[in-house]
Amino acid sequence: MDITYDHKFKLLLIGDSDVGKSSILLRFIDDVFEHIHSTIGVDFKLKILNINGKKVKLTIWDTAGQERFRTLTASYYRGVDGAILVYDITNRNSFENLQNIWIKELNMYSTTPSVKMLVGNKIDQESRVVTRDEGKELAQSLGTMFFECSAKTKIGVSNAFEELVMKIIDSPEISDIQQNSI
Ligand code: GDP
Ligand code: MG
Repeated sequence: MDITYDHKFKLLLIGDSDVGKSSILLRFIDDVFEHIHSTIGVDFKLKILNINGKKVKLTIWDTAGQERFRTLTASYYRGVDGAILVYDITNRNSFENLQNIWIKELNMYSTTPSVKMLVGNKIDQESRVVTRDEGKELAQSLGTMFFECSAKTKIGVSNAFEELVMKIIDSPEISDIQQNSI
């Protein structure tokens, strides 16, 4: 059977190690929360979403521990349509590194326009040190979308992906390129 899509997008998850990138992806793809082994190499998962009557094929790239050594390469960023920059709301350093490291890397390596979203993860935790307002403020100053979520309780996770994808579809410079390339 011939399967066609209205859109195909490449998404990626970046941010410090241990903020919960792989857990967010696993929650979104399989709706589970499990211990994840970080293995060598870049991994990606496929997901088909139906949004507003459109069939969207997502390829979502996750790092497998290389972010610990800041050795993500240009191929990881190539052709990205949507970037999810994740921090842990209980870890201020992971929040500051979005601005100091990850957004810079993304802007340096990505060659095409992309929609960016900051995501504060682990909101199930009592030990929050980064307030929601601080998150929103940083997102505003970087010109990105903003969400908070918990991969553990699943709150906010699919919402974040769906809002990101809707924004990509609504960005003419991105969805036009995609439709032409199918
Ligand atoms: P990554 O290195 O960014 O891919 O992070 P992982 O997904 O491997 O998660 C790092 C650690 O944080 C693991 O022990 C996870 O179980 C834990 N974790 C991930 N997401 C959450 C969450 O939403 N809440 C809590 N409490 N722990 C989480
Ligand atoms: Mg991981």
